[in-house]
Amino acid sequence: MSARLPSSVPILVIGAGVHGLSTAWHLARAGEPPLLLDKTGIGAGASGIACGVIRNNYFQPAMSELMAACVEVWESDPAQLHYHGSGYIALGPPAQESDLIAVHERQQRIGYPSELCLGEEEVAAHMRSLYGDWRATGLTVCLHERAGGYAFNQESMLGLAAKARHAGARIETGVEVTGFDLDDAGAVATVRTSAGEIAAGQVVVAAGPWIPSLWAMLDLPDRIDVRQPDGHVQSDLPMWTYWYLQEGEIAFDPARFVTEDGRSSAVLHVDSDQPLRDDAGRLITREPWGVYFKPDRHSVQGGAQPLRLGHAIDVDPYPTGTVEPGFPDMWCAALSHCLGRFQGARPRYRQVRSGGAGAFTVDNFPVFDYMRPNVFVAADSNHGYKMIAVGREIARVLGGEHSSLLHPFRFERFATGDLHPVSHSPYPWS
Ligand SMILES: Cc1cc2nc3c(=O)[nH]c(=O)nc-3n(C[C@H](O)[C@H](O)[C@H](O)COP(=O)(O)OP(=O)(O)OC[C@H]3O[C@@H](n4cnc5c(N)ncnc54)[C@H](O)[C@@H]3O)c2cc1C
Repeated sequence: MSARLPSSVPILVIGAGVHGLSTAWHLARAGEPPLLLDKTGIGAGASGIACGVIRNNYFQPAMSELMAACVEVWESDPAQLHYHGSGYIALGPPAQESDLIAVHERQQRIGYPSELCLGEEEVAAHMRSLYGDWRATGLTVCLHERAGGYAFNQESMLGLAAKARHAGARIETGVEVTGFDLDDAGAVATVRTSAGEIAAGQVVVAAGPWIPSLWAMLDLPDRIDVRQPDGHVQSDLPMWTYWYLQEGEIAFDPARFVTEDGRSSAVLHVDSDQPLRDDAGRLITREPWGVYFKPDRHSVQGGAQPLRLGHAIDVDPYPTGTVEPGFPDMWCAALSHCLGRFQGARPRYRQVRSGGAGAFTVDNFPVFDYMRPNVFVAADSNHGYKMIAVGREIARVLGGEHSSLLHPFRFERFATGDLHPVSHSPYPWS
């Protein structure tokens, strides 16, 4: 049972995931401690289940610049944020060379530490210098980000909540926002909750995969027109699409998933066009495949291709902990394809509470914007565990400043055609 809530607050934040917690922390630090409400608990949504990969491998300039700022925040307190700055390595076949070259060039320009290897021999040599048992073939491009890495999902959210509380924010869990009353100007006057009504001066909505329901409560459109950069308008597109991210793990001592110098491994992301076989030589697929994996608390964790779920799904209870029947074979075969130490890992696969659903926007990029005169929405299109600096920027915007990092993610882009460039990646997250 939560303590009695105030009838009125200057700032109300909805959602105790990375964006709500980071916003609350930064608002409190700026002397504007908000009330944060979550219907379930801290890290109860996508932030508490995320693989925890923190990378800057984005083809879009605006994403890349925002990620660089996010890594700075992660690096500011690795202990309390449970952050491991072991880096991130993306490897790909010839089809991905141009994208990764462009990403690397931009990272050089913005001072993000990374190196690029091109050609199968150079890539293999780089990987073997890090991992003596590296054995993947056919990879001709490698982007090695020396910053970033991973953090432990639930622990990092608890750490963020502790920081927010320490700075003066009030966090109440078990309180659900059920509706909004709008005034004549379209601003939110009152927030309706399961614990009563609260008048709020400003509201921040950071509801993760639940954003479509909050969006509807704010009476925002569930279908929109999108102007493409060439001027062509695509009409009446659904604002939200759900994808399911398949993830699992193998029981494997993370102390053995280290580089030659004994350091914890970087996150590895491998996209390949090579035939994939299991340890017995049986063909898994001749189609291009992609996986990512990283050390976890007691295991090696990662995932692969997401599944498209559609425009409306039931998010309660939150969908997690399942994969397609072929996923474990494919993911374990891919790990073994890359590193000899994972040979024979398939029997050690286990389907834990990992993987989950995300709500993607109509162009698969975040919307960070005022959607009502006093309601700022953080809808990260499932890019966002790593995006811990978004809350810092939201706090600035609520304080009256302009955020050049958030500006490219305004809702208006769908009407103006000021969209983000699209990469050659088959996935909606690159
Ligand atoms: C399986 C999976 C793996 C991922 N891996 C990564 C990764 O490795 N790296 C990365 O950067 N991103 C990753 N992501 C994406 C990332 O997890 C999300 O983009 C991010 O966590 C969203 O944060 P959030 O704060 O918006 O929402 P959430 O963390 O989902 O938090 C939203 C909160 O809002 C609360 N809420 C919802 N509705 C209401 C209401 N009506 N009233 C009150 N409270 C409400 C919920 O209880 C929840 O706690 C992954 C996502 C998934 C699903």
